Amino acid sequence: MLERLTDFANKELLIKVNLNSNDTFFDSKNKIICVHYKETKTNKCFSLLHEFGHVIQPVSFFQVDNKNINICKTLILQQELNAWELGWLIAKYLGLDTELSKNDYIKESSLSIKSYIEMIYNADINYIRSSAVDYKINESDRLPEWVKMYELINLIKY
Ligand SMILES: [Zn+2]
Repeated sequence: MLERLTDFANKELLIKVNLNSNDTFFDSKNKIICVHYKETKTNKCFSLLHEFGHVIQPVSFFQVDNKNINICKTLILQQELNAWELGWLIAKYLGLDTELSKNDYIKESSLSIKSYIEMIYNADINYIRSSAVDYKINESDRLPEWVKMYELINLIKY
């Protein structure tokens, strides 16, 4: 399954994948998704699906306003939730939803969202602002192919 997801990233999203990284994130500038080497195979699949969600997600309704910290916080949560939802739609699009547990995926999503909620209420204001700006960078770097993919994915129901 990891191979199928990596293949999808390379061929359809035009993104490279590193499954042996020290952290899990999507680097939109270098077009690479990194996944922590310690994650289990299933969690690596979940993480890849979530990061694919970031790759194709549309411009946020909550445009970044650096002066307003509450908008920055809302944007971060909205983009994170949206990426988890899109990730599951991509699993369906690839026909992998029958091999993966939706319940486990949702559990993993909520753990991740919980850590973002903790982050936005505990982290330094400047860190929150720079994190929110990172999503804006993702948006402006988006390739037309990803937009097409998003439109396709959006036809699929949970
Ligand atoms: Zn994320």
